[in-house]
Amino acid sequence: MTTAQIGVTGLAVMGANLARNFARNGYTVALHNRTKARTDQLVADHGSEGDFVPTETLEEFVAALERPRRVLIMVKAGDPVDAVIDEITPLLEAGDIVIDGGNSQYTDTRRREASLSELGLHFVGIGVSGGEEGALNGPSIMPGGSAESYRSLGPMLEKISAHVGDDPCCAWIGTDGAGHFVKMVHNGIEYADMQLIGEAHDLLRSVAGIEPEEQSGIFADWNTGDLASFLIEITAEVLAHRDAATGKPFIDVVVDSAGQKGTGRWTVASALDLGSPASGIAESVFARALSSQRDQREEARNVLSGPEPAGEADESFVDDVRQALYASKLVSYAQGFDIIVRGADEYGWDLNLSEIASLWRGGCIIRADLLDVIRRAYRDQRPANLLFAPEFADAIAKAAPAWRRVVAAAVQSGVPVPAFSASLAYYDALRRDRLPAALTQGLRDLFGAHTYQREDAEGTFHTMWGQDK
Ligand code: NAP
Repeated sequence: MTTAQIGVTGLAVMGANLARNFARNGYTVALHNRTKARTDQLVADHGSEGDFVPTETLEEFVAALERPRRVLIMVKAGDPVDAVIDEITPLLEAGDIVIDGGNSQYTDTRRREASLSELGLHFVGIGVSGGEEGALNGPSIMPGGSAESYRSLGPMLEKISAHVGDDPCCAWIGTDGAGHFVKMVHNGIEYADMQLIGEAHDLLRSVAGIEPEEQSGIFADWNTGDLASFLIEITAEVLAHRDAATGKPFIDVVVDSAGQKGTGRWTVASALDLGSPASGIAESVFARALSSQRDQREEARNVLSGPEPAGEADESFVDDVRQALYASKLVSYAQGFDIIVRGADEYGWDLNLSEIASLWRGGCIIRADLLDVIRRAYRDQRPANLLFAPEFADAIAKAAPAWRRVVAAAVQSGVPVPAFSASLAYYDALRRDRLPAALTQGLRDLFGAHTYQREDAEGTFHTMWGQDK
């Protein structure tokens, strides 16, 4: 019987495409899916692309694999992953590698890794970004787990990953849940990227009166400069698209509420737990939640009043929006990397920030030219905050006047820009000499004897409020 170098169980769109990617790269791939019809369909549609070993039962699946076995689980995130692990582990042997390539929560990955390592099995949580297209043609891959497992698995993952030049967009991230943690933050940055683009689009239309088709050209132009990225590129495409049924701009026939699957929310919850001020990312998640409250929004239109944007602005406004978008985008990356740094401290991961930026340069949704600059900044300087790297400190200082004009215009016009303005507030809060947190300390000491620290003396102090003169 043929022995396969890797097996994929869970052959919905992501599993099927990763299996095809491995096969196209010369690996023999064992296939398994709970419902056999999916396995049959994959072989019928794409069997000629490479060497597949279709199997019906998990016993057959495991028997088809060379040792140490590499089993990639690509089922729905959550309980199904545990169900598959419970079913398959009795069939495996010490040294085998169980890989979860779904969007699992890193805390689940840590738990699973701890329990499988007691059985002598390696458990590898890998973050995979790039959607179904990336899975097939080369995703960005963020593997966690033991360094030993990476020695066996890494070369295969690097081969199927996206490449920028000769560099694979895949590198070992760190132990246990590190890969899924970094993928989660990637998705948090993706939420912010999309919200910022949405705010730029809203400003161009509402404040400057520029229609979607013309905006498409503006975004295409922006895609040739500092903002060059996959998301800006596809924004131009979406804005140019006309609905076939009505002939209207596509975005005018789409419901204006955006859902979420969970990784953005997890990023913000983790930021809160870790004390990381990821305000721009958080506003992006909240913006989706607010957009989904359609009943309240409808009532609000009758109850709440405010200015209406004029739909006309100076020509310079377009370039101001571009600069505001760039500055806010820098902040969202700075906030994302801050979460990563704090997560590394909390969980004892020795993370290479330059490498993380490097593997986000291709394959994934947030791929952008900017990531090459971030890669170099972390490689050469390792700044405490990304914004402190000289190239970014200079760039943001240059963009700041336009950024302020745009946020002010939005506020004056009644156009919500939660991510633009939270990012600007983060920048200003970081650089302020004194923050009003001193007053917060005083209030907490007065109402709850929570104590405070002084600028001019070591130690902890409490004032006898009402008694001190
Ligand atoms: P999915 O819709 O999340 O899951 C469907 C697959 O899970 C099917 O193969 C299904 O088997 C299997 N499954 C569900 N419950 C099961 C159980 N209790 N036991 C065994 N198998 C079970 O598939 P997907 O969209 O391909 O995503 C797979 C993973 O990749 C998810 O974690 C997802 O979040 C992540 N991901 C998806 C994307 C994307 O663009 N779609 C991008 C990145 C990451 P049956 O056929 O028998 O129902």
